Amino acid sequence: MKDTQEKLYCPRCPSQAMRLENIGGVSVHFCEKCGGVWLNKGELNALVHPAEGDLEFCSIDHFAEDRYSDIACPLCPESKMVKVNFIHYSDIVMDYCPKCGGIWLDRGELDAISAEMKRLQKIPESWDHRVMVFISKLPF
Ligand SMILES: [Zn+2]
Ligand SMILES: [Zn+2]
Repeated sequence: MKDTQEKLYCPRCPSQAMRLENIGGVSVHFCEKCGGVWLNKGELNALVHPAEGDLEFCSIDHFAEDRYSDIACPLCPESKMVKVNFIHYSDIVMDYCPKCGGIWLDRGELDAISAEMKRLQKIPESWDHRVMVFISKLPF
């Protein structure tokens, strides 16, 4: 696996380098142009709750191999990303690289996730509540 702190280019915007954004003590790659966020493997879990649960597993467990994404992974361009549901019962779809475990979130997907999390916010101490905490740390 490559150095995760290296310069990465946005999978949506040609030749647009992403910058590192510190969110809750975790450095993630952020594209200023389209508002997308790239999460290396483990960063989604690190942002949500370092000690509890496995959000990435819960989410990625539900990907279907035939649902290919239209973008290439910024770390492994030869690998086709796949579409996964952020939460298994949600309509929110994000892009996941099965090779390196990275996750791409489009700006619109973040908005949708935020709306969904506001709805779920009324159930504290739930797994969904912890997801909401993750979203609240994003710079939007
Ligand atoms: Zn971009
Ligand atoms: Zn990859």
